[in-house]
Amino acid sequence: MSEDKYFHGRIKVPYRHVAGAYAGRFIQEIGNNKRIMGVKCSKCGKVYVPPRMVCFECFEKMEEWVEVGKQGTVKGFTVVNYSTPVMPLKPPYAYGIIELDGSNTGFVHIIKEGDPKKLKVGMRVEAVFKSSPEGNILDIEYFKPI
Ligand SMILES: [Zn+2]
Repeated sequence: MSEDKYFHGRIKVPYRHVAGAYAGRFIQEIGNNKRIMGVKCSKCGKVYVPPRMVCFECFEKMEEWVEVGKQGTVKGFTVVNYSTPVMPLKPPYAYGIIELDGSNTGFVHIIKEGDPKKLKVGMRVEAVFKSSPEGNILDIEYFKPI
């Protein structure tokens, strides 16, 4: 096959999908009240952020909502050095797994630090909320080291 039969391009597709009751409330609390909510398992006590309907450990349905801290501890991260049109920030920045105070799970979000070499597992970070919420997970713009 010769190459002249193909047109190469790239598309950016707007989309929306149903967040579901738990993710919907989670996003609304962040945008409207600048609160980060988790759900607590009544059986094992584990607090999930982002909230899940069923505990992964004991398969219990979870219905108790609890507010967790805006600060947390970095459990792992990766630095983004290359840009694509869909990325929310200009590199370099990091995607991190953050265990928020009062939760027992890893919350994946952006960590912004001027010098990514200063990022460390175990460091403390704090949520920076967007001033004009848009109803998505980027209503927490990023986490900043504290
Ligand atoms: Zn449980």
